[in-house]
Amino acid sequence: MTTVEIQGIAKSYQPGVPVLKPFDLTIEAGELFFLLGPSGCGKSTLLRILAGLVEPDSGVIRFNGEDITRLAPEKRRAAMVFQNYALWPHLSVFENVAFGLRTAGAGKETIRREVTAALEMVQLADCAARRIPSLSGGQQQRVALARALAVNPALLLLDEPLSNLDARLRDAMRHEIRRICKERHLTALYVTHDRQEALSMADRIAVMNGGILQQCGTPEQVYNHPCNRFVAGFLGDTNFISGEAAGNGKIRSPFGELNVPACDLPDGTTIAAAIRPERIRILPPDAAGMNRIPARLTGRTFLGESCEWQFEAAGGTVDVLEFAPPERRIGDEFLLELPPDGVVLLRG
Ligand code: ADP
Ligand code: MG
Repeated sequence: MTTVEIQGIAKSYQPGVPVLKPFDLTIEAGELFFLLGPSGCGKSTLLRILAGLVEPDSGVIRFNGEDITRLAPEKRRAAMVFQNYALWPHLSVFENVAFGLRTAGAGKETIRREVTAALEMVQLADCAARRIPSLSGGQQQRVALARALAVNPALLLLDEPLSNLDARLRDAMRHEIRRICKERHLTALYVTHDRQEALSMADRIAVMNGGILQQCGTPEQVYNHPCNRFVAGFLGDTNFISGEAAGNGKIRSPFGELNVPACDLPDGTTIAAAIRPERIRILPPDAAGMNRIPARLTGRTFLGESCEWQFEAAGGTVDVLEFAPPERRIGDEFLLELPPDGVVLLRG
């Protein structure tokens, strides 16, 4: 198991256009760690720097305390799985998976044993002799994963590995990849722009935007306690309410005075209150009380197990997500309850 330390890593491909601003991160041994962010934010660049395929402008990378920043890719034992699989179509499944071991000069018996074990791990043991073009996309993805596992990597790097699969296969592979990482006690860094993938698979997530690490934490931490507007919005739908601090545990907002979690911001500080649609409760219009705002139902999106309701209140629109939704009539009046413990206060 490998602990990976990233310290002050920065990269520009062109002078004056930084793709990664000095970046610090520690991935614990055995952790399935995610880099999550929009397209172009520098995720693949960081992954390639770890693999040794791209040289950083500054900073240090350590595997188990050892500086490997200038070490050649093949000496790092960092195995990569790409979005497009990057398999050799003219070679068999076995030969594709054996490739890394052969290049490293492994003996015939070792290759047979390790390749078989890797193919069993991804449930492709009976496909060893098959040619790549005869496999489905999902099977090709498994071969790519087996090839990375066969070299017994110190660090497994996965770059959007499921993007080319259809939704059902993607769900199944999420479980598979997590199971394999945990069974093999692998340290893995997984890059995606898909928040569901990150939330459902990760031990911890680093949320990135514009080459800057925004927040790092468990899926629950980054979803429930986002540190800024970007993280709140990128991790899920959010209602943002602008307002100002009005003494401990209160804000003034277009929806009136609201009770919020305690904070020590000076009176009058401009803040935004973020509340996720599933945290808001829909109540009958005569159930007045604390943090309950009158609102009229103006729209709905039916999603099967849940429904997204749009409300119009005096202070603006509010989105509410309700599971096992009852029938509701557009145009009816309700009270929306914003529980204080569902509100996250953000600066500005
Ligand atoms: P992500 O994986 O998050 O989508 P990338 O790391 O691939 O982001 O790219 C980050 C930025 O760097 C993008 O603006 C991209 O166009 C640019 N970039 C990536 N690779 C190169 C390269 N080899 N040469 C020049 N620019 C690059
Ligand atoms: Mg990328």
